[in-house]
Amino acid sequence: MKHLVALAVLILLAASLTTGCGEPGDSLEAAGSLQFSADETRDSAEAIELLVGQTHLGLVEGREAMLVFLRGISTNQRDKPYAVEFVRTLDAEMYSDINVPSANSHLIMRAEIVDEDGTVLWTENVNSIFQSLEFLKLILEQTGSIRFTIHQIYNLVKADYPELLEFAVRIPMAIEGGVHYVLHIPTDAGNLVEIGRFDIATMKAAAKPVRFEGTVTALVDNGPSVDKIDVVILSDGYTEAQREKFELDAQATAKRLLETTPLYEHRDLFNIWAIWTPSKDTGASYDCRPGQTGCEQRFRDTAYETVFVIPAVGDKFNIDVSSISDRVAFPVQIGKAFETAALVPYDEVIVLSNSQKRAGFAGLYVALVTSWDRGEFPDVAVHEFGHTFGILGDEYQAEGDACYFAEPKIPLPSNIATAPTATSAIKWAAWLVTDTPIPTPTNLRSQYRIGAYKGAYNCDFLYRPAYDCKMNSSHQEFCAVCAEQMVRRIYSVVDVTRHEEAASVERLGADRLRFRVPLREQTRRYSINWMIGDEVISNNPTLDLSTRPILAHGKAGDWVELVGLVEETTGFVRVEDPRTRERFSWWVRVAP
Ligand SMILES: [Zn+2]
Repeated sequence: MKHLVALAVLILLAASLTTGCGEPGDSLEAAGSLQFSADETRDSAEAIELLVGQTHLGLVEGREAMLVFLRGISTNQRDKPYAVEFVRTLDAEMYSDINVPSANSHLIMRAEIVDEDGTVLWTENVNSIFQSLEFLKLILEQTGSIRFTIHQIYNLVKADYPELLEFAVRIPMAIEGGVHYVLHIPTDAGNLVEIGRFDIATMKAAAKPVRFEGTVTALVDNGPSVDKIDVVILSDGYTEAQREKFELDAQATAKRLLETTPLYEHRDLFNIWAIWTPSKDTGASYDCRPGQTGCEQRFRDTAYETVFVIPAVGDKFNIDVSSISDRVAFPVQIGKAFETAALVPYDEVIVLSNSQKRAGFAGLYVALVTSWDRGEFPDVAVHEFGHTFGILGDEYQAEGDACYFAEPKIPLPSNIATAPTATSAIKWAAWLVTDTPIPTPTNLRSQYRIGAYKGAYNCDFLYRPAYDCKMNSSHQEFCAVCAEQMVRRIYSVVDVTRHEEAASVERLGADRLRFRVPLREQTRRYSINWMIGDEVISNNPTLDLSTRPILAHGKAGDWVELVGLVEETTGFVRVEDPRTRERFSWWVRVAP
């Protein structure tokens, strides 16, 4: 008891010491006091006045975004093959992390935000119908042995499935001075050409509420969407009477998703929502299984019109399609799917199609899976999520499927490589042990968990990182290279630090400042290094800074940079990536 009283007295004494000398009017300009600045450069650094007990807050980046629907057009011109037209803007809560570095991406359409003078302020590679048309051309050429031009394919799609030409883009609103949203696409020769230019304010003014209804249920709720990856699960082909089946299917999908490494280790960063929309018919269009009796191959009236496209096309053109792989199903009402998903601030969409015929497909920006067996389909949903969220490619070769190789026009996904010439040349070299034989013989697969195994992306001349992986067989775990990419993608949506809070500086005394960065609670997932120059001065969550370490780096009056560097330390990421670190910096000095 005596000790407790003594402790309380000490705490009170300490508190009075730290606040006592900070009465308003006290000068902190005196020689020897500790000053800081939040200005960008050393030359522009000016001390921020802060009395003892006061706190200075840094800026929090804006994440507001708007969802705009565009329609893709094929122009049939060699120098400018595509165009884009504006369809509508949604008045919906939506977020986008603007500090994501633009990287060499598998996604070919390049989006830019430019200012009045045309200076590029922000850029990102995004998915679009053009990517799908390019792949469709490859598939038709190889499986149908028919040479179609993109323009012919476009006309076929436009005639039968015009809704498929719509796609949604997310435009960040926090880019100061941003006036136009501009889209580019590579020509066959590989040159980027502008295919659309839109006035951001005009699109914003045209915003309309979501037109579709749906019952939203939170399956996993970890907090405000601005700082989460929000996954929406939509219902297709479930009748009013099948609502409970959808709920169980959606729960099984959510559970499997967050049980899967590396999503499991980051599960607190996800929200998962189910949006219930009943369908008039059960199942999917053209979903009769081989040998199934009493099933009529026909269009079925479902919420997002999921269709098995091969038998549907065969029926329409009255052609024999029995030799073509019939695994591809997608929701025709893709615009409606995105618009309904926008009832919540979604980042990714999974469509559950209530069909007994197996399918998983991710060629149209959403992960689609049929719910044939609750024990099995959730794994396929996670595989498809690997495509949409992870931008990963298939690591398998399926008989009868087309090889997706289309470089240089479409760069390969991060888990697929061309013939490696040396260990160091392969893109996942960071994961290889030094003596790994390249290509890696399959009989050494247990010795070399990561190597360069031949056969991937449906091409016999391409290479995959692991003998097996979730991007190869859905029931497997993600290989290390795919897991690394998934973690990079997680930090493309959120940061390694919390978003709702600003970094702060609190004055503890004339010669003492407390620096704080918005660390997440999961401290074992991240490290923090407080640095002056190259020297790490502390690893504590908060830094109580005195004048001593500053005077070790310069004389009184010299501004030195103080950095708080937060990095993810799970080991999932081996290749240094700006997305998996967050850097906070200030200028500090001892007043001359
Ligand atoms: Zn993999």
